[in-house]
Amino acid sequence: MAKEKKGIRLEHISKIYKDPKTKQDFYAVHDVSLNIEPGSFATLLGPSGCGKTTILRMIAGFESPDEGEIYLGDEAINALTPNKRDTAMVFQSYALLPHYNIFDNVSYGLKLRKMDKETIKKKVTDILGLVGLEGMEARMTNQLSGGQQQRVALARALVLEPGVLLFDEPLSNLDAKLRVTMRTEIRRIQQEAGITAVYVTHDQSEAMAISDKVIIMEKGVMAQMGTPQEIYYHPNSEFVADFIGEANFLKGKLKSVSGGVGHFDIAGGSADIQADGHAAGGEYTLVLRPEAAVVADSGQLPCKVVLSCFMGSYQNYHVMVGDALVRITDFNPKNKKIYKEGDQAFVKFDPSSVHIL
Ligand code: ATP
Repeated sequence: MAKEKKGIRLEHISKIYKDPKTKQDFYAVHDVSLNIEPGSFATLLGPSGCGKTTILRMIAGFESPDEGEIYLGDEAINALTPNKRDTAMVFQSYALLPHYNIFDNVSYGLKLRKMDKETIKKKVTDILGLVGLEGMEARMTNQLSGGQQQRVALARALVLEPGVLLFDEPLSNLDAKLRVTMRTEIRRIQQEAGITAVYVTHDQSEAMAISDKVIIMEKGVMAQMGTPQEIYYHPNSEFVADFIGEANFLKGKLKSVSGGVGHFDIAGGSADIQADGHAAGGEYTLVLRPEAAVVADSGQLPCKVVLSCFMGSYQNYHVMVGDALVRITDFNPKNKKIYKEGDQAFVKFDPSSVHIL
């Protein structure tokens, strides 16, 4: 449906704003370079104020970078106004015309382009089918549910057949259950339309569920970009590990390495962990995900249970490994031995699940 899939390239992009309080200039976005493949779904993820919306607005042309160049396909687009860029934005607030029906809202941009009536009708009908609103042309937009309004907003952007679709936290006004439904829908529609999408959210599960690539932002700087699996299993910093999912951080001393396997001393215990490229003698931070470990009668790290709580699908443990608190989610505990507060036990894990920072 889209004319042409276009990739996006950011080369050393920076944006400087003036802090309204201190009147000092600061980098809201600093030296960000990245490449979004044509037809892929990329999500900008990070805490409030990290610069993700600013990046999206620079791609759309609502803001211009102070440094660097943005490319859409092969074209440098810094100098183009938003309406000259082959992009369309879906907003958090939907920005629908309230006293008009769905047809008028979706066809608005096509009418501005002076398309003939028959073509407009066909395009609107096709797009409403794609977003699951077939036959609803005559419904007024102020009589729609939040989810339906979001679909209209999406249809209105898609009908213009942009090379790139931009989303600014499009689901934040919806309740939790509808968010989950709509994110799946957005992903389906993006794939069916075969369009490049850039999506802003601060919700990590949303980002994981819909993205080909996740771009983690921290204070204006790109902390990491990768597939959800790369980011989850191979975070490059404590910030990323902590932001995506839950993480335990253990300090380990690498005593020796042989055949790529490192022998670590960790708070009264020891573990052999794949340690290619790491030097013996160093202190490292090890990332252990709560679901990658269990509490057991034997294992790598002696521990003391300080919390044991039944959560239905899992047993939630907090254990002390030396003076480090380690959280463990032991799934499907029905027929397993349950440890109580005060028990001495071991943390047991598959060494391939541990990531060395
Ligand atoms: P949120 O999730 O809260 O929307 P964000 O990651 O999208 O956050 P941005 O909106 O990109 O963050 O803002 C990045 C930084 O730039 C913030 O510190 C914000 O206060 C600041 N900022 C944004 N727009 C302006 C502006 N027009 N003038 C001055 N500072 C701005």
